Amino acid sequence: AKDSGRNTYRFYTDKMNIDAMERLRMRNGLAEALLKQQFVLYYQPQFDLHSAELVGIEALIRWNHPEKGLILPDKFIPIAEQTGQIVPIGEWVISEACRQAKAWQQQGYAPVRVAVNLSSLHFKRGDVIKMITGLAQEHDLDPQYIELELTEAIMLQDVDHILDIVKTFKTLHFTLSIDDFGTGYSSLAFLKRFRVDKLKIDGSFIRNLEVDTHDLAIIRSIIQLAKGFNMRTIAEGLETQEQLEILRREGCQEGQGYFFSYPLPVKQVVKYLHVAPGP
Ligand code: C2E
Ligand code: CA
Ligand code: CA
Ligand code: CA
Repeated sequence: AKDSGRNTYRFYTDKMNIDAMERLRMRNGLAEALLKQQFVLYYQPQFDLHSAELVGIEALIRWNHPEKGLILPDKFIPIAEQTGQIVPIGEWVISEACRQAKAWQQQGYAPVRVAVNLSSLHFKRGDVIKMITGLAQEHDLDPQYIELELTEAIMLQDVDHILDIVKTFKTLHFTLSIDDFGTGYSSLAFLKRFRVDKLKIDGSFIRNLEVDTHDLAIIRSIIQLAKGFNMRTIAEGLETQEQLEILRREGCQEGQGYFFSYPLPVKQVVKYLHVAPGP
């Protein structure tokens, strides 16, 4: 019995060592990626569903790994959240997105709003307001061209603290949206006090919209809810003409997805930008 106990113990420590090793390797890799500037932003355009005008662009991170090539965020963002490295990584994302948005303006394109994804850790650690306003100032970018995508996970934190931060961002004219809306924790009571500009309807409700009447019921109520609160709605993961037509009919204002465009590297996304009208 003593032996099997020891074996069990050994089994678990070996397993834990592998996980710990893997995590350590990833942590080192991420630190090196930051240092050696291996992260890169891709940009996915967002459109008004009625006028087909470009309304914004979401910045999505990728890791350009020297050996493994382009790594998608699902492979490293969850680990960065665990190690806390999402804080400096997110800071890099915001800085780079601001720099790029300003560069487009300087190249003569009409200003476009760039949306960035924030982690709930940004709200827990340090001064997120100071960090973001500082980066906007550093790049001389007006906050109206920055959209902050929050996840419903932040609502698990101290409500008054989050409300204060959100109010301050609003006062400073940042755009705020709730990402992956409908999959998380937001209660209706919370939304009532939480004056964001936009709800991003999660792609999981769009995927089977043509055939799933429950998804239709869900998107319908999200859109009506948003209307009642004077918020806009954007559907993510929009892939087909039929989804577009349903969303249009239901009164969803904006959309983003492969139907319009994949997330693109800077060089390719400029074709969606408009030239600024002359002076
Ligand atoms: P998300 O914020 O929900 O971003 C949308 C994801 O859906 C992106 O995946 C995008 O490429 C993908 N997508 C866009 N259109 C379609 C479509 O029509 N069909 C389908 N099936 N997918 C579509 P991506 O770029 O792999 O990012 C995955 C997640 O990683 C993001 O989900 C976001 O949660 C996270 N992420 C990405 N960049 C950042 C970042 O800079 N910071 C943080 N904290 N998280 C990020
Ligand atoms: Ca997002
Ligand atoms: Ca999303
Ligand atoms: Ca999503």
